[in-house]
Amino acid sequence: MIRLSGIVKRYLMGEEELMALAGVDLHIGRNEYVALIGPSGSGKSTLMNLIGCLDTPSEGTYVLNGRDTSSMTDNELAQVRNQEIGFVFQSFHLLPRLTVLENVMQPLVYRGIPRGERAERARAALEQVGLGNRLGHRPNQLSGGQRQRVAVARALVGKPSILLADEPTGNLDSRTSAEIMALFDEVHRSGQTVVVVTHEPDIAAHCRRTLRVSDGKIVEDRQNPPREVH
Ligand code: ADP
Ligand code: ADP
Repeated sequence: MIRLSGIVKRYLMGEEELMALAGVDLHIGRNEYVALIGPSGSGKSTLMNLIGCLDTPSEGTYVLNGRDTSSMTDNELAQVRNQEIGFVFQSFHLLPRLTVLENVMQPLVYRGIPRGERAERARAALEQVGLGNRLGHRPNQLSGGQRQRVAVARALVGKPSILLADEPTGNLDSRTSAEIMALFDEVHRSGQTVVVVTHEPDIAAHCRRTLRVSDGKIVEDRQNPPREVH
């Protein structure tokens, strides 16, 4: 499903060149549940952005669901992103002037789905995350945890094969974080692939596999022990 080979990513910082990823080979199969951990600046977000087709590598190849992305145009990449990937970020990235329902309908606009069906699917996604009673609210009328649930609903509404989350609990207290991770657990159980960037061990422990990134490389790749069910 996700196959990265010889991935290098360089950024130009004025005259200086910074190597954010320094040779990454990685396979993530269908329905895996993966944590990306490692110190700040190690390259986790860069790797996530490449997997999500938000950015392209300086070197190497990325095959996503059998398609080589390196030969794709920006338009094709945007289309793959819209169809295959759902994103969740630390800072929610909701549109403040839109209602909760309208925010979640947004990804479907680019797919030519009629408005009534968009609303119906958005409502179903919001019910899935426990916010079926907040459809007409604006983001600033919600708590942080509720805003992140809206973002999860928006990520899921297009039924992507992969859910990518970059520090999804970074702005949340521990109880709310656990609720968000319970949602991700459910997404994984329903058959989707989930990849989570985090520096919190409690969050990583939800995942089945942990990849540790350091200095732009994957330095550890291990299966996590099964979680105790309480
Ligand atoms: P992490 O997510 O592990 O904190 P990042 O992937 O954000 O690490 O960053 C890896 C390195 O690349 C850092 O040194 C960071 O400053 C740099 N970097 C990330 N994105 C950019 C960018 N768009 N332009 C320039 N440098 C960047
Ligand atoms: P969020 O909180 O929503 O995860 P952040 O505020 O952490 O977002 O910003 C992360 C974004 O900033 C990433 O897309 C990353 O590539 C980019 N970024 C990280 N470091 C740098 C940098 N040194 N210069 C420019 N962009 C960067």
